[in-house]
Amino acid sequence: MSFESLGLAPFLLRALSEQGYETPTPIQQQAIPLALAGHDLLAGAQTGTGKTAAFGLPLLQHLGTAPQAVGHGPRKPRALVLTPTRELATQVHDSLRGYGKHLRIPSAVIYGGVGMGNQLDTLRRGVDLVIACPGRLIDHIERRSVDLSGIEILVLDEADRMLDMGFLPSIKRILAKLPKQNRQTLLFSATFPDSIKQLAMEFMRHPREVQVTPQNTVAEKIAHRVHPVDGGRKRELLLHLLAQDARVQTLVFARTKHGSDKLATFIEKAGIQTAAIHGNKSQGQRMRALSDFKAGKVKVLVATDIAARGIDIDQLPRVINFDLPMVAEDYVHRIGRTGRNGSTGEAISLVAQDEAKLLRAIVRMLNRDMDIRDVPGFEPQVPIRWGNSAPGKAEIPGGERAPRKPGGGRGRRPHGGGDGQRHAHAGAKTHGGPREGARKPADGRRRGGGGPRRDAQR
Ligand code: AMP
Repeated sequence: MSFESLGLAPFLLRALSEQGYETPTPIQQQAIPLALAGHDLLAGAQTGTGKTAAFGLPLLQHLGTAPQAVGHGPRKPRALVLTPTRELATQVHDSLRGYGKHLRIPSAVIYGGVGMGNQLDTLRRGVDLVIACPGRLIDHIERRSVDLSGIEILVLDEADRMLDMGFLPSIKRILAKLPKQNRQTLLFSATFPDSIKQLAMEFMRHPREVQVTPQNTVAEKIAHRVHPVDGGRKRELLLHLLAQDARVQTLVFARTKHGSDKLATFIEKAGIQTAAIHGNKSQGQRMRALSDFKAGKVKVLVATDIAARGIDIDQLPRVINFDLPMVAEDYVHRIGRTGRNGSTGEAISLVAQDEAKLLRAIVRMLNRDMDIRDVPGFEPQVPIRWGNSAPGKAEIPGGERAPRKPGGGRGRRPHGGGDGQRHAHAGAKTHGGPREGARKPADGRRRGGGGPRRDAQR
């Protein structure tokens, strides 16, 4: 399939070919014709699928071809894209500028954490397209520096993240300022919890649904590995893993801003170039850290979930969860940054006893097994108790408290963890499912599946 066959205008086709895009991605193939036909869209797609062009191209085509309603007074924005973070807003803005390079579409990117001055100037001059984070857009609405009554197309990008970040009330306030009639709404989200469905029911007209990634799944090409470790030794273990191959670019997730700063300093002191991004860093600092990481000048980027939203790094080989995310769905977002564009990736989680429950929730949501293995020298002093997980879902393998009688507890362990294999859970073997990640020996040291129960407790 070609971009031409999707019905895109020549000015866009030219820009796409100049950027080296040859074929549309699956989400583009599905979403573009429907959006060009004027339908509302509920699109399931993660970062890395080409979703920005999937909504951006129809949006630009509309702005470039549909005549602007003639009215009195200053120019009003005709299209609005809402994004959860400033990084994503900037990225979307840059992408749309690229796709729309043969059009003249004045635009503004609006986010908090920077002065109002430039944004006010741009809005005053008049724009057709606004890309905004909800919080700062509300500020502008309150100051009456933006008039949203002429919006013809609304895009909610990473809608699930916006709701997770508590933007629902802001989104509703913004929606109340938009025209109800003749508006097209495109909602993109990696996951579709009930809150999103509700929002869609309230604010969309007979939306068509398209989906490229089955809900809440991550690429099968990713190896998911878990290293049990005592909380107090996580930093040491992290260094050990990073030092094994310091050339591998690694995104490390920490839960708190303070924690990520401390961790970055610690890694840096060990001689590995590291940067941190989180909400307390200025926009400039975040941008610099990101571009240094993309350019390979820093090998390790430590990030909080929110700061990492929408980061677009192709072919990132490794993500390490220093802390597990509090919300299982964030695991999908974190890991969505590796193994993209068909490359393979590694997702490593350092898990202490107090995170066992979080890990269970993640495994349940992914519905796939993880490769759990001790790193020699870093085995937890008291073996981690994983407990049982919900019936009918993939679960954490055996664990130290696994039933000891052969077959004794198997009835409660639908996925065969009852044989007590704790290390390198042989999910693939016991389930026979396509779980390449679980099979792959990640560091060549040891493969568990089928090994004796305490094989790493030397
Ligand atoms: P996104 O999911 O929108 O963040 O896009 C992920 C990456 O894929 C970005 O770097 C895009 O520039 C790139 N991309 C999007 N669509 C295509 C395409 N059809 N062909 C090649 N690259 C693409």
